[in-house]
Amino acid sequence: MLKQDMETDVLVVGAGPAGICLAINLGKKNISTILIDQKPKKNVGYKPCGDALSPNSTRRLFELSGIKQPRGKEISENLATAHFRPVSDFELSIDFKSQTVDRLEYGQRLLESLTDYASVSFKSKHKAVETIVENNKVVGCKVRQYDGKIINIYAKIVADCSGVTGIVRRTIPESVSNKFQTKLPKYETIVSYREIIETPSPHNYQKQMRIEYHDEMPPPGYFWIFSKGEHTLNIGVGWLLNETNKDSNTKLILAQLRNKIFPDSKVLDGAGDTLSGRLPQYSMVCDGFVTCGDAATLVNPISGEGHGPALISAYFAAETIELAIRNEDVSESFLWRYNIRIWKEYGYDGGLGIAVHKLLNSVPFSDFSFLFEKGIISQDDVDAIMYDYSVKLPIFKKIIKGMRKPKLLFKVAKGLLLAERIKRLSQKYPETPDKFEKWVKKIKKIEKKRI
Ligand SMILES: Cc1cc2nc3c(=O)[nH]c(=O)nc-3n(C[C@H](O)[C@H](O)[C@H](O)COP(=O)(O)OP(=O)(O)OC[C@H]3O[C@@H](n4cnc5c(N)ncnc54)[C@H](O)[C@@H]3O)c2cc1C
Repeated sequence: MLKQDMETDVLVVGAGPAGICLAINLGKKNISTILIDQKPKKNVGYKPCGDALSPNSTRRLFELSGIKQPRGKEISENLATAHFRPVSDFELSIDFKSQTVDRLEYGQRLLESLTDYASVSFKSKHKAVETIVENNKVVGCKVRQYDGKIINIYAKIVADCSGVTGIVRRTIPESVSNKFQTKLPKYETIVSYREIIETPSPHNYQKQMRIEYHDEMPPPGYFWIFSKGEHTLNIGVGWLLNETNKDSNTKLILAQLRNKIFPDSKVLDGAGDTLSGRLPQYSMVCDGFVTCGDAATLVNPISGEGHGPALISAYFAAETIELAIRNEDVSESFLWRYNIRIWKEYGYDGGLGIAVHKLLNSVPFSDFSFLFEKGIISQDDVDAIMYDYSVKLPIFKKIIKGMRKPKLLFKVAKGLLLAERIKRLSQKYPETPDKFEKWVKKIKKIEKKRI
């Protein structure tokens, strides 16, 4: 170890929601932790995002670990309803409590709360550039400091919380683990662009969260409008990349939609980024390594919600890491319990997301309105699919009954069945790494199924 190098129990890479939440929970357990982020301290928390955060996630986090929910100026607006408009003349509305938050304010408050924990230190303008591996085990990261110098930070466990870039995961050689992806393929990548806009008079979407489809977008694109106050909105577009939409420009298309719907608005901020549109990583651990949040591809592929999963996965990771450090066992086998927990928690969301994306790639949006207009799928069914974590049998029966568009209905039934199968497999995540290969084969087989 050179003089400038550092050593700690846990190195957390990235101070987004996942990284800070992990560092706070490790601090509560008095575990020596270094948290690094490439950004200057004052920018930690900022992220191009729809800014929607379900209070369910933060309430749960508060109950689990006492991290306070967004409050005061951290909340832009409490939202009361959600609206889905797949075609211009049809809309599905639900009472759905949510919030838009000011991510910078919320992120800065979480960062500030780290000072309560003596075992945690934060280093801004420190960029991880490569994972350090010794004896087939992750032992640290090469980090570029603010002055351009490269130092090594050694740790018993490195936690990748670097968001969609997944810098640690990406630079772990296959010889150490081939159980997770080093690169996200295009067809599992959602490209996205969002703007914060201000309207001269109160806008028409007070306290609303809306997802719409417009002809300007290449399928399976979506356009969101999330209220952030009487005159302020977060608007954005995104789509899972495929052969036909890969050259479409998210920024230009959003500008067209803004000019059409909010012609007098002023753009306060605009930025783009990518999200993963896939299942959680099949494994999120190897010797000396854990990953959380976007780096573990935990974003919900339908809603794009990743903030809540980032916070909750980090809480689960902290529990596993504490046990590993106390037991002096940071092996893949010991850390495996984290995989089981995450797959039980988020496997269903991922499975449903894969099914919906497959459907959207093979059925035009307009066809979906038919299902709702004819009452084949009701509001209660949607709630059951989204929130009861169950694909109930009556939906299948109704779908089979609605024979006016048999091809469409057959595809929807196939999609629901696919989601149900992934859900069942998620609950049967292998107890130990030696059963992993067999399990992965099964899940890949389901993922490959065409709808
Ligand atoms: C356009 C868009 C809209 C979205 N809308 C929503 C929404 O409405 N609701 C929702 O819940 N989710 C939304 N998401 C997803 C959400 O933003 C993420 O899921 C969430 O931020 C994930 O948190 P994280 O901590 O895993 O990663 P991030 O928030 O991305 O944080 C990663 C951190 O790591 C740092 N970092 C990266 N590389 C390095 C490196 N090499 N070295 C050091 N530090 C590094 C970054 O600077 C950053 O601070 C959206 C995403 C996008 C792109």
